[in-house]
Amino acid sequence: MTFPHDITVFKSDYQDRVPSIRQNPVDDWRYTTCGYCSTGCGIEVGVRGGKAVTVRGKLGHPVNDGKLCLKGIWEFEAVNAPNRAEYPMLRTSIDQPFARATWDEAFTRTAAEFTRIQQKYGRDAVAVVSTGQIYTEEFYTLGKLVRGGLGTNNYDGNTTLCMASAVSGYKRSFGADGPPGCYDDFDHTECLLAFGSNLVECHPVIYWRLKSALERRRFPVIVIDPRVTMFAQMADIHLPITPGTDVVLLNALAHVVLEEGLADEAYVAAQTSGLAEWRKVIEQYSPEVAASVCGIPAERIREVARIYGRAGAAMCIWTMGINQSTHGSDGVVGINNLSLITGNVGRPGGSPLSITGQCNAMGTREFSSCSGLPGYRLLENPEHRGEIAAFWGVDEATFPQKRGRAMTDIFPAIEAGEIKALWLIATNPMTSMPDTHRVAQTLKKLEFLAIQDVFHPLPSAEFAHAFLPAAIWAEKEGTFTNSERRVNLVRKVVDPPGEAKSDLDIFLGLADAMSMTHLIARTPAQVMDEIGRVSEGRPCDYSGITHEALERAGGIQWPAPKADAGEAPQGSPRLYTDGGFHHADGRAKLIPLLFDDDNERPDTAYPFWLNTGRVVEHWHTRTKTGRIGNLNKFSPIPYVEMNSRDAARLGIESLDFAKIRSRRSELTVMAQLTERVAPGMVFIPFHYARGANLLTLGLLDPHSRQPAFKQQAVAVEKAERPTNLSQEV
Ligand code: SF4
Repeated sequence: MTFPHDITVFKSDYQDRVPSIRQNPVDDWRYTTCGYCSTGCGIEVGVRGGKAVTVRGKLGHPVNDGKLCLKGIWEFEAVNAPNRAEYPMLRTSIDQPFARATWDEAFTRTAAEFTRIQQKYGRDAVAVVSTGQIYTEEFYTLGKLVRGGLGTNNYDGNTTLCMASAVSGYKRSFGADGPPGCYDDFDHTECLLAFGSNLVECHPVIYWRLKSALERRRFPVIVIDPRVTMFAQMADIHLPITPGTDVVLLNALAHVVLEEGLADEAYVAAQTSGLAEWRKVIEQYSPEVAASVCGIPAERIREVARIYGRAGAAMCIWTMGINQSTHGSDGVVGINNLSLITGNVGRPGGSPLSITGQCNAMGTREFSSCSGLPGYRLLENPEHRGEIAAFWGVDEATFPQKRGRAMTDIFPAIEAGEIKALWLIATNPMTSMPDTHRVAQTLKKLEFLAIQDVFHPLPSAEFAHAFLPAAIWAEKEGTFTNSERRVNLVRKVVDPPGEAKSDLDIFLGLADAMSMTHLIARTPAQVMDEIGRVSEGRPCDYSGITHEALERAGGIQWPAPKADAGEAPQGSPRLYTDGGFHHADGRAKLIPLLFDDDNERPDTAYPFWLNTGRVVEHWHTRTKTGRIGNLNKFSPIPYVEMNSRDAARLGIESLDFAKIRSRRSELTVMAQLTERVAPGMVFIPFHYARGANLLTLGLLDPHSRQPAFKQQAVAVEKAERPTNLSQEV
C-alpha cells in the first residue's frame, strides 16, 4: 500500500455542524471540564433551582469544540445519582454496621488511628493510595500532608494501574515525565501509529479530532492491537499482534529504519546518546525474528516501517495495550526510541503522545508527590528535598531519600503484615486490582481502613472502618490536566449533598486533627498560587496559570511561564521543540530493549488469552456510570467477547453463558460472539465487581510496577445462566 505525500485538503462537514444537545430549561450555564477521561472536554453545566439538570459541550473549546461522548452527555446524572454518601460513618469492626458520625468524630478517629499505628509500628505502617480523579490543588495538598506531615513512604495513586509505564518510559528516555505531543499534531502528521488504543470507545472525542483531521487531509493510520477494535476497523493497516510482544515489533520497526537509511542521522547525532549500544541490540531483531514472536508477517512489518520512516512527520499514540504489560515501560521506551531515530519528537505532527486514562492522572503525576516531590522533583535528589522542605516549612528529615512502594507493592506489604492502616481516596481496588479474592483477603488484615469517596456502598468499603463522604466533580473548584498537558478549570456548579466535603477540605480537616501547621493554603485559588510558585522554572511550570486565565483560554498547556505584565500567559503545545532534554547531558537516551517472554501464556489447561479493557458506556469501576440509567442500560452485566468459531466448538451460542476459569478464580458471564477477537482469545470489560479481575494475575512491570492486565491464560466452557444475575454496582 502506498500513500500520496501530496496531501489533499478536504473541507470537514463536522466544522459546520451544530452539536445536538439536550435543551432542558436552565437558569444558568457554568463552565467546567469533563470529569471522566483524560481527553479534557470543555463542558457547560446547566443549572436549575440549584441542581445540575443538563450539560452541553462548550462550543469553540480548543479540545472538543462542543462535542461530547456518551459519558460527558450524561455527566450531570452522576451528580444526582442515588447512593451519594452524605455524612461520615464509623465502626470499630467490619463485622458491625456503620454508624453516622460527625466530621469532628471522623477526623479525630482517623487521626488517632494513624497516630497509634505509626507510634506502634513505625511511620511506614500507614499507607495512602489515591486516584486520578481529584483536582490538582487537592493532589498537591494531599502530597503536602503525606510527605510533609504523615511521613509515610507507602504513598501512591491508582494511576499505577494505568499510566505508570508511560511515566517510567518518559523518564528513562527523556529524563522527565510529560507527553511531548498534542492533539493538534493530527493536523500536521503524515503517519499515525496507534499502539494498544481503542481510541473510538475509550477517548471518543480525541477520535473525533483524528477523524476531522483525516477529512481535511489524508494520512495513513496504522493500528497495532490484538483485537479488531472499532479503531482497527477504520485503520489503513491493522497489525493483530500477539499479546505482550510490542517491544519486539518496535525493535523490528527500528531495525528496518536503520537498515534502509530512514533514520534522521543529524537529529540522532545532535540530540541523543547511546546509539552504538542500542544499534547492537536492534540488529538482532529483524522483521523475520519479530514475525515469529509477534505473529505479523515480516513483509508487513517492513511496509509499516517504511511508511513511518518516510513520512515527513510521524506520530505514535498509545494507551493501556502498551502500559498494562510486564514490558509496559520498555514498550514506551521502544516508542520513544523509534521516535528519536526518526527525529519525531517535539515537531508539529511528529511526537510520541500517551493518551492517559483518568481525567486528572496527569495532575497527580505533576503535583501529588506520590512518586517524588512537586513539579517533577525527585526524593532521591538532596537539592530537591531541601527546596521543598524550605518552601513548605517542614523538617527535611520527614522526607524519605527514595521513592517507597507503589500501589501494587503496598497490597503485598499489607498481606505480609508490614502495613496496618490504609487510606483509600477515590479508588476502588476490589474491582480495579488484579486477583479480587486476594485483594479481599488483604483488606481484611488491616487494623484500620479509611475510605474517602462519593458513593456508598461500594465494594472496597465493605472492609472500611471510617467512611469520609466527598464532593463529586462540579461540586468543588479546581483544575485537571488532560493528555496533552492542558490545565483546565473545573468550576463549582452545585453544592455537595448532605455533609459531604470537597477532598481539599477533607485533607485540611485531617491535617488540622493531626496538628499539622504547614498546610497554609486553604482555598483552591490559594493552592494554585502556591503551585505556580513551587513549579516556576520546572518542566511542568504553572507560574503563569491562574483559574481566571484558564477559563478565558479554555485551558493552558504547560509549561506556562509567567507572562509579561498585561499579557496573557502562553502555553506550550509541544515539549522538546528545541531538542533539549532533561538528562544531565541535555540529550535523550536510546535505550536497548531485550525481550524476555515472561507472560502467563495459554497452554492445554488454560488455552485462551484473556484480554481486558473498557467499553464506551462505562467508566472504570462503575461507581459512577453503574448508577446512570442511560449508560448502564446499554451494558448492565459482565460479558465476554469470544470468537464465533471457538464458541461453536464449545457449543456456546450468542447470549448463552460461559464459565471463564483462570488459575486464580472463575466467573460466569454472558457470551457475545464476535469476530473482533481472534480464535484463541477472549475479551472481558474490567468494569464489573464480579468481573475480569477475579481472573487476572497482574504480573508487574519491573520499572513501573504496573500490572499486566492484558496477558493471561483462561479456560472457557458453556455454563448455566446464573440465578443471581442482577444489576450490580
Ligand atoms: Fe468526557 Fe472523555 Fe467523553 Fe470528553 S471524551 S466527554 S472528556 S468522557
